Amino acid sequence: VEKTFDLSGGALCLDFANTIGEHRLKRNERLTSYSDLLAWSRQAGALSQEDFRALTRWAGRRPREATGVLEKARRLREEMFEIFSAFARRREVRPEDLTALNKILSRSLGRLSLAARKGGFGWRWTGQGDAPEGMLWPVARSAADLLVSEERTRVRECGSATCSWLFLDRSRSRRRRWCDMSTCGNRAKARRHYRRIKAAARRRAAAS
Ligand SMILES: [Zn+2]
Repeated sequence: VEKTFDLSGGALCLDFANTIGEHRLKRNERLTSYSDLLAWSRQAGALSQEDFRALTRWAGRRPREATGVLEKARRLREEMFEIFSAFARRREVRPEDLTALNKILSRSLGRLSLAARKGGFGWRWTGQGDAPEGMLWPVARSAADLLVSEERTRVRECGSATCSWLFLDRSRSRRRRWCDMSTCGNRAKARRHYRRIKAAARRRAAAS
């Protein structure tokens, strides 16, 4: 059964970074196989159905190579996480992470071509179905687009002590703290609630 991925980061590159829950502890890994990577890519729109099928067939024939591509994808993910996490924390981006991103960009962007669409033109990726790492091209491009856009100032890292999900804060107040109110936000609220109850009990005990 194919895994379902959460795609709430607000940008393809952030959703990719969020395929591991806790980067620093290397916990909650969601990409445990190349087919997980393919499933994520399809769900996130980084691969067409046709290319997804072609790469699924390729992985069936070349399982070892597929695992190699998965490892490469995870390395890119960590580099992108470092870049955007640094951004979210108002720290300098490490030059080596930028170099790594530039390296994949140089392989990827040549695969873009213009395609006529209704009423105009659009960018289209070519040859993804023949390239086992083809899903990483749009991910790298998304990271580059985000870094050069004004939206980069809206990148945040979840305020939870363990969760390291990245997201775009599109709230008007720009004060969103949690990746998701229903998970990390609720846990934080529950903790605050618990502390308040305990503090009130202590006050009552001290007064009696
Ligand atoms: Zn979170």
